[in-house]
Amino acid sequence: MPKLLTSNIQEWLKRLPGHAGLGNVRYTTSGKSDETSIIQGTQPVTASLNKLKLAISFNGNIANAMLLRKELEQSFPGFSYNCDSDIVCQKLLLELDKSGNLAEAVAACMHSLDGAFSVAGITAEGELFAFKDPHGIKPLCAGHSPDGATYAFSSETVSLDMNGFIRDFELAPGELVKASKDGFERIQLIKNPRKAFCAFEYAYFARPDSRFDGKYVYEIREDFGRNLVREYPEIVKDADVILSVPETGDDSAMGVHEASGLRWERASRRHRYVTERAFILLNNERFSTIDRKVNILGSKVKGKRVIVTEDSIVRGDTTKIIIEKLRRAGASKVYMFVTFPRIIGPCFYGIDMATYGQLIGSKHKPEEIAKIIGADAVCYQSIEGLVRATGHSRGELCLACVTGEYPTPYAQKLADEMKGKFLKGYEEKGRLYETCEISSAHSDKTN
Ligand code: SF4
Repeated sequence: MPKLLTSNIQEWLKRLPGHAGLGNVRYTTSGKSDETSIIQGTQPVTASLNKLKLAISFNGNIANAMLLRKELEQSFPGFSYNCDSDIVCQKLLLELDKSGNLAEAVAACMHSLDGAFSVAGITAEGELFAFKDPHGIKPLCAGHSPDGATYAFSSETVSLDMNGFIRDFELAPGELVKASKDGFERIQLIKNPRKAFCAFEYAYFARPDSRFDGKYVYEIREDFGRNLVREYPEIVKDADVILSVPETGDDSAMGVHEASGLRWERASRRHRYVTERAFILLNNERFSTIDRKVNILGSKVKGKRVIVTEDSIVRGDTTKIIIEKLRRAGASKVYMFVTFPRIIGPCFYGIDMATYGQLIGSKHKPEEIAKIIGADAVCYQSIEGLVRATGHSRGELCLACVTGEYPTPYAQKLADEMKGKFLKGYEEKGRLYETCEISSAHSDKTN
């Protein structure tokens, strides 16, 4: 499959006929991770049955994908599975074939899929639609062009902004929205009292220039930094300067700087042309990439007690390399200020941290983590502080990876069973939702 170069996109777009389109920047949390499989799993995915056709683009992850895969293999003789986007597309098509009604088909999917799914799709008739899972775990918003001629859905507001579009609204959990030349038609299919927007979007995943509920993610991350200063006054007293892990720690560093009065040294620099996000790289690529990606200006940290701001610690290896570099540059103390609370459990909803074994926080307390990664202290923002800064209540957020309380029943059952096994020494063989068979949990996803 040829790779599409950014410089050729405009030329390619001109060749595409039709009035509606779908795009996707895939972040792999399902299917194999080798390059061929990643390309095969590229979205949008399409499926056809009888005279029906569908294309969808999907953000999220389906926790009960393996159970649904079996069901679909029985219904579709030629069903081929690359990743869970195939499940979403084929399941929707199957339901559409049964009912002949898009809203009924989407509602049926909302009841059967356990996980996070913000979906945009096009029917064979060219109808553009989008829907969000009943907990609203992943973002999805709608907007229009200034001349009113074009309607769009986007995971984040930033892509509407960059195309000069005006944001209209964030889709509600359990909502289906259809777009036509007359505008948006909003249909609330499932009203779920338990919302669960991913808290990790605020700390790491979303772009800082995106807005959720009218507030820039950047501003919330600044608040995270202020919270850390309030929560760890003794550490602040014992520090000389602030440094941020570029670029994910920059936003909270501003908050730490403002609240503490400490100088924020821009002494950790990122290589402009090494652009991979270390978190999403395959294991073997991560070490060398981080080493090439971040450089330290030695004279700015030599002999200094340094607070380093970072968005999260998942495996700990990224942070460990940066601390090693700081020590080599002569930093006398290194305190980590981490905006996302300690990650103790896997994510089954679209962030690729899907086993207990890969999470340094699943087995170790902050003091132990500090020892392992070579820091003088690891200071996590409290869950309460994070929740307050987002402007939501705790019951409106997904915090499963830091609390162990999963908003959907199958994911909760999977987490409980596998945590028990993990603590007894079970060796995980891959992402839990792809490698572990557990019996189906109660299927009403609106709990
Ligand atoms: S488990 Fe964590 S990363 Fe996954 S959706 Fe919930 S808050 Fe986000």
